Amino acid sequence: MVDCPICGKPLEPPTIECSSCGAELHHACAKRTMGKSYCKNCYKQAKKQTRFERMAQRETLGREKPSNMW
Ligand SMILES: [Zn+2]
Ligand SMILES: [Zn+2]
Repeated sequence: MVDCPICGKPLEPPTIECSSCGAELHHACAKRTMGKSYCKNCYKQAKKQTRFERMAQRETLGREKPSNMW
């Protein structure tokens, strides 16, 4: 029997797989962002990545760095 990496309790349905590392989690323990479910670690990474992507998009669109505003 595998334990949930988030809460440490045995896995029982309903479970869900982390979209990034494939770890099995309780449905209630998974973090959801951008329409996908992640474990704790991958959620952190996904959030970071989303921020980077947004920053990159903004720079491509505006071609202005935020520092210009000061
Ligand atoms: Zn859990
Ligand atoms: Zn994961």
